[in-house]
Parts: sequence; C-alpha cells; structure tokens
Amino acid sequence: MLNDQQLLRYSRSIMLPEVDIAGQDAWCNARVLILGLGGLGGPAAAYLAAAGVGELILVDDDRVELSNLQRQVIHSHEACGEAKVASAAVTLSAINPDVRVTQLAERLEEDALRAWVEQVDLVLDCSDNFKTRFALNRACFASGTPLVSGAAIRFDGQISVYDPRQPDSPCYQCLYGRGGDDEAMTCSESGVFPPLVGVIGSMQAMEALKLLAGVGETLTGRLLLLDGKRMQWRSLKLRPDPECPICKGNTQDAG
Ligand SMILES: [Zn+2]
Repeated sequence: MLNDQQLLRYSRSIMLPEVDIAGQDAWCNARVLILGLGGLGGPAAAYLAAAGVGELILVDDDRVELSNLQRQVIHSHEACGEAKVASAAVTLSAINPDVRVTQLAERLEEDALRAWVEQVDLVLDCSDNFKTRFALNRACFASGTPLVSGAAIRFDGQISVYDPRQPDSPCYQCLYGRGGDDEAMTCSESGVFPPLVGVIGSMQAMEALKLLAGVGETLTGRLLLLDGKRMQWRSLKLRPDPECPICKGNTQDAG
C-alpha cells in the first residue's frame, strides 16, 4: 500500500509497535472533519497532515484577521483577508502534499453538517461557540462518529472525547446540558494566552490519531482541564446522563 517515499516519511510512526504499518495505513485511509481553523484547529490539522491522514475536511466560514495571528499559527501574515480554510489548505499542502484537503468556507447547519459528519471517520470540534458545539455533538451521535472536543480561553483549556461507539461514553450535551446559550465567552471578548490553543489543539490531534489507529486509551469518559497559570491538569470522570436527549445515557447503538 505505502510506497518507498511514504515508508520513509512515516518511518518514525511505523517503528512504534503500537502504530506499525497497520496504524499508518489506517491514518492514510482516514477522513477527518475539522470544524474551526483557528488556534485549536490549526495545530490539530498540521499534525494530522504531517502524520499522513488521508483526507482533511476543513470547515470554517471566517476570514483571517490581524487579531488572529498572535495564536493562529497555521495562518501567515500574508493570508490576512483570505478564507481561513484556504489559508490553512496552503500550509497543510506545504507540510504534506499527499494529504487531500477539502475546503468548506461555510457555516454548516443541521442537515448539511450531519451529511458531512456521516462521511468521515472522526470529527474534531475546534469551534468557539456553544451553538456549533451542540450541533456537532448531535450530528456525531446521530451518525455514530467519534468527536474530539477542545476549548481554550484566557489561561484555561479543556479536552475530552465523546465516542458514540462506546457504550459508556457520555456526550457533550450530558456535560453542558441546555445551560450553554450562545452567551459563551469567546477569545475576542476575553483574550487568550497564545500557546494555550497550541497545547489543546495538539492534544486533539493526539487523541484523533490514537482513535484512528486503536492506540492506547483515549479520553472517552474523562474531561481534562488545564489551568495554564499554575500549569496544573485536573481529570474529571464523566458518565452519560440517562436523561440526556441526545445520547439517552448512551446505549452503544444510539441513533
Ligand atoms: Zn448525552
């Protein structure tokens, strides 16, 4: 399957017994949707491209602005004014020309979002608002697609995995219920410490690659919280909410 160039390019992954040829093959054949190409989605996409994930579907309707550049390192100064998906695609193709990049410079609503989510192996939530997060969670649990969810604001970050294929996995809605109106603070209102988004986005790539290759244990059922000022991590155990309207306490064949 892999040619000589690919065997060389991916040799440091393949020499890990947990990954091996089979894991690399899984990455090369995978389709991953990344929603949000900002501070989280940029580094996540860069690592997935470098690792050789076959196709990345980039979704973001924003354009690159000057105020993005202190943290969104996938975009160059010259890209100001361009669509974020187009700017990211240029960087990703420069990292690894073998990766197919699909650009969706639009805001996907319910049906369209679900149609795309159904076509991929895994989704990364790198968005910055609750409305999108809930919609993406619904689409993932309706289609049985694992979701790697990250968030970052000021000095605080968090990451978890919601995997509808696992009977004991909660979903994003179990955690945040209906409490999250669209009043959530965003980086534009609250500020964000530049490398924080790189830490969380890189961890999203790590969990995604583990899920795709079946490596180790994922964050399913655990929420990691980073206090960047004290550089302390907390791990919270998460259980499905039996009253949750989206995963219904999850029964493995949810949806
Ligand atoms: Zn739920």
